[in-house]
Amino acid sequence: MPGKHPRALLHESRPIFEQGSPGRSGASLPALDVPARDPAVDGPAALRRGEAPHLPEVSEVEVTRHFTRLSRWNYAIDLGMYPLGSCTMKYNPKVNERAARMPGFAGLHPAQPEDTLEGALALMWGLERALCEITGFQRATLQPAAGAHGELTGLMMIRAYHQDHGGKARKKIIIPDSAHGTNPASCTLNGFEALGIKTGAGGVIDASAVRAACAAHPGAIAGIMITNPSTLGLFETQIAEITEVVHAAGGLCYMDGANLNALMGKFRPGDAGLDVMHINLHKTFTTPHGGGGPGAGPVAVGAALEPYLPTPMVARDGERLRWDFARPRSIGRVRAGSSNFGMLVRAYAYIREMGGPGLTQATEMAVLNANYIRKKLEDVYPVAFDRPCMHEVVFSDKKLKKETGITTLDVAKRLMDHGFHPPTIYFPLVVPGALMIEPTETEPPEALDELCTALREIAAEAVTDPDKVHSAPHTTGLRRLDETLAARHPRLRWTPKAAE
Ligand SMILES: *Cc1c(COP(=O)(O)O)cnc(C)c1O
Repeated sequence: MPGKHPRALLHESRPIFEQGSPGRSGASLPALDVPARDPAVDGPAALRRGEAPHLPEVSEVEVTRHFTRLSRWNYAIDLGMYPLGSCTMKYNPKVNERAARMPGFAGLHPAQPEDTLEGALALMWGLERALCEITGFQRATLQPAAGAHGELTGLMMIRAYHQDHGGKARKKIIIPDSAHGTNPASCTLNGFEALGIKTGAGGVIDASAVRAACAAHPGAIAGIMITNPSTLGLFETQIAEITEVVHAAGGLCYMDGANLNALMGKFRPGDAGLDVMHINLHKTFTTPHGGGGPGAGPVAVGAALEPYLPTPMVARDGERLRWDFARPRSIGRVRAGSSNFGMLVRAYAYIREMGGPGLTQATEMAVLNANYIRKKLEDVYPVAFDRPCMHEVVFSDKKLKKETGITTLDVAKRLMDHGFHPPTIYFPLVVPGALMIEPTETEPPEALDELCTALREIAAEAVTDPDKVHSAPHTTGLRRLDETLAARHPRLRWTPKAAE
């Protein structure tokens, strides 16, 4: 509740440049016993700085307090729950961090001779085999550094396939309105055109809509991109029929599998006729993410796209593993080095710890937790589609807004006063006033209950004290920001007062 946050006590918000005083220093060095300036190494006068750089002049304790204070302003998964939707923010076991920091892995150099890489190649081979087993595909590249990068890679392979199969004119990729926002962006980047279709009445894609789109563009369909589960948190029940329709029209089928923690052990996209998918190791398979940290978006493919996988792949000759560059139809490299290798180590460690039954249980817990929250809140926050969800649930502010004028934005801001990171709001766009929550498999029931209690209290407060909700947050260092101004004119650099 309000007051829980230590932020009010940590009100110092001056940048470090404005702290300290001239001449103060965090170090005490002995006096120089050589000249302070040496004309021989000073360089030409024209290139010399005219005035001293504006570096902070602070003591050690000021530096320590400044950065410790900043770290406490930050929200972290190690402090509390992130009920974000569309982007799994789960707790990652610390043992996987330890594995990634083992000197033999952490100290690898990208240009190291191949015969010294046997351990790393074995890990990559093992991870590729595990990902193929989980997804039902033949092979997977581990190169892409993120989910969106995986999409780009998958679409490059689809383009290469069509070029090889007389389909140069195939430029359209069908994308339903419940797809992740990166899907149409990846299409455009690849020179494809996104062909939008609407989800059906039940919130899932109708095979008939796909059939109609294919019929309307004969010979032009390059493929379809299906986010499954969709951003509505729903399983695409007609996916097998949809893949048949698209294949019959000459297209290939891409599945955005970023949220595989809803499917492991239950559904293998390769078995459903899909041709290619990406997997977000940093969501499903543990790697702390958010804030743009390193990720990994391996892409798994079936027989049609296997020849086009990026080089190099790991190859196995008997017991020996090596890099395989001899792939004549490959699209080439999609990044320098082999991958974000540390992420692969974390994912491999996680998969080996969990085993098949453990991964299946993670999926069951992720789906159970989301449905638990759905059931606990749907009377105050109506769900967009009244059916069991997968790993995430999409509510709306329909009822609250009508009865009290309080909107999704107000609820998200007020939730910060209760000590939670706000959920994803106003996405997916197909649900007005969407409030999207993915509790993940790692949250204990007590945390789910606390979140539901907070959201119910906010709904009750919207009736008794709407102003309090509308003016939230009340316990943070900064209150409501002008988000438009912050997005359009971000101030990302500090400038000295005199220069402003
Ligand atoms: C997160 C996500 C992506 C993008 O992954 P990045 O690693 O952030 O590029 C794509 N699709 C879906 C469904 C996602 O959840």
